[in-house]
Amino acid sequence: SNTPVTVLGLGDMGTALARALLKAGFRTTVWNRTAAKAEALVPEGALHAATVAEAVEASPLVVVCLLDYDSVHGTLAPVAASLAGKAVANLTSGTPRQAREMAAWAADQGADYLDGGIMAVPPMIATPAAFVLYSGSREVFDTHRAALDALARSEYLGEDAALAPLHDIALLSGMYGMFAGILHAYALIRSEDIKAADFAPMLGGWLNAMAGAAAGFAEQIDSGDYAQGVVSNLAMQAAAYDHLLEAAEEQGVSPELLAPLGPLMARRVADGHGHEDLSGLVELLRTRP
Ligand code: NDP
Repeated sequence: SNTPVTVLGLGDMGTALARALLKAGFRTTVWNRTAAKAEALVPEGALHAATVAEAVEASPLVVVCLLDYDSVHGTLAPVAASLAGKAVANLTSGTPRQAREMAAWAADQGADYLDGGIMAVPPMIATPAAFVLYSGSREVFDTHRAALDALARSEYLGEDAALAPLHDIALLSGMYGMFAGILHAYALIRSEDIKAADFAPMLGGWLNAMAGAAAGFAEQIDSGDYAQGVVSNLAMQAAAYDHLLEAAEEQGVSPELLAPLGPLMARRVADGHGHEDLSGLVELLRTRP
């Protein structure tokens, strides 16, 4: 039978998580700082806990989805004593360091801690497109797998609580890099009064074709052999990149989203790596020995 679940935090995401649990038939207790958001779920079958302590008491699994780690700590610290023996699945976004610190704090309270990174927007929850990255307690993941799977596809990355936020943030970093390129491309297109929608299919197709670079660069980065399988050497790419910045200026488009890559390419070429691939730039990004 389904174990009871508590959800702390009913913002857009927490509400979507609570609804998914209710739909899947879990006895779901909810708490939110602004009580009206909890009350709104009662007609759907949720049990509204008036206090955090009452909410934590209600279930062996406590799912937390608040704005940030400060609000998680602020919410859980006053009820620290009631966390002993509980499984805490914290799906609040944060950094790897914050997750490690929260895992250590939870362990001090005798709680079993699982960190999670939600790779979806609220309407995607409980649809096949959504997945959540988990790290921390394998026991929490295994014991409460049914509840977690009611939210999204669940992917467990390892015992170190930092792993989920690390992967989450790496994925988002790749995404925002792509978004920056998309916005710059549209600014260029709009500089000639062409509709973005007319250019969109060409851009989308090109980006899909280029996504293969993720796997291609990975081999070079893991082996440290940045010359392996090189098709477009870096010296050529660095020279061509100057045209991108020049064209932006000519078209009256700010180069600021694109500019940072230029000096990195030039430095790598100057260091004698012009015959290698672009992937070697990863060597210049490390700021810790
Ligand atoms: P919302 O802004 O909709 O909700 C924020 C929630 O945090 C509310 O329940 C709010 O309570 C609560 N809160 C904020 N500050 C405090 C505090 N000091 N003490 C107690 N509760 C507090 O955000 P979302 O629900 O969208 O996001 C929640 C988490 O999920 C975030 O970490 C976000 O990064 C992550 N996430 C969100 C995604 C999205 O697309 N929405 C995608 C992936 C991850 P109140 O109602 O009282 O204000």
